[in-house]
Parts: sequence; C-alpha cells; structure tokens
Amino acid sequence: MKFGFDIDDTLINLREFAFHLYNKKLNKNVELTEFRALKTLEIHEAFGLDKEAGGKMWNSLAEEVYYSSCPAFEGAVETLQELESEGHEIYYITARKSEHGERTKKWLIENGFPVKDEHFYCGMRDHEKIETIRELELDYYFDDKPAVLETLLDIPTKVYAMDNSYNREMDIPRLTSWFELKEILSK
Ligand SMILES: [Mg+2]
Repeated sequence: MKFGFDIDDTLINLREFAFHLYNKKLNKNVELTEFRALKTLEIHEAFGLDKEAGGKMWNSLAEEVYYSSCPAFEGAVETLQELESEGHEIYYITARKSEHGERTKKWLIENGFPVKDEHFYCGMRDHEKIETIRELELDYYFDDKPAVLETLLDIPTKVYAMDNSYNREMDIPRLTSWFELKEILSK
C-alpha cells in the first residue's frame, strides 16, 4: 500500500520543541500545560506575542527548530521502517518551503526515517497537498493541520489526523500515537 505523511507535528514533535526554544530564548517559563491547551497551531499566544512578533520569532528560529534535535514522536521511526520492510511505499508531503527540501530529507534520513528521493514532496501550500495526494493515489495519509485536513474530507484516501489540541474539534478519524497504526490497519 501507499502511505503518505506530513512531517511537522505528524511524525516529529516540532511545535513542542519550538515551545521549549521560545521559553529559553525569551527567558520565560511558560508551562507545558498552557502550551498543550492552545487551540491555535501557532504558539506565540502562549508567550504574549502578537501575530507579527510571533512570525518573526518563528522565522528567526527556523534553522534550529528544523535541523537540530527535534525529537520524532514515539514509535514514528519504527513504524515507518516496519511499513517499508513489509513492502509498503512511504511518501512524505510537507509544506516546508522548497529551499528546505534537501536538508529536510537529509535530516529525516539521519534520524532513521526511510526516505526515497522520488517519494519526497515539499514546497506546496496547505491547500495544494491534495493534488499530490490524489496523483499518488495514496491509500493512507496522515496530517495534523486543520487547513490541510479540511481539504481532504472527500477523497478515496483514508485520511487520519494526528491528534492535537488545535485539531480536536474536527470530526475526522485520528490517532494519538504511532503505536495505534497497526490496529487501524488490521480493521
Ligand atoms: Mg504538520
């Protein structure tokens, strides 16, 4: 089968990693519980920043957020390795800007994810992901972002949300951990 994955906050815990960096850089001590209650994908609110200041902060830390030591979600690497060893095809579909494509691929490989060059798509806008997903005729696709998920409610691909506080109001199948995938596939 063909499996497609968003990367940030679907396979890796990027937002929470950024949250800790924000605390450090801004010399703050915002609690994790406050972060986990956020209803927005953007995290600046928790630090009292407005949209503009938040955007600047994010951009100034993008290098560190993307390419240092952001952890994968538990079980993500093992799950994808297992799928690949069982003969399934693994695709990555990320809205990271295209200038981040090569380094992101390299980072994924260094962190144990199975990546084939021709199975890696990046640089599209959120609402454009559907075109790639359709063309590839994916059997399954996983993402966390409401702006993406809401475009995918009517396609033959089985779409799952990676559960998070900002997508919980969406009525869509979801998984809370990569350890649940086996059960989903056995249905
Ligand atoms: Mg994402």
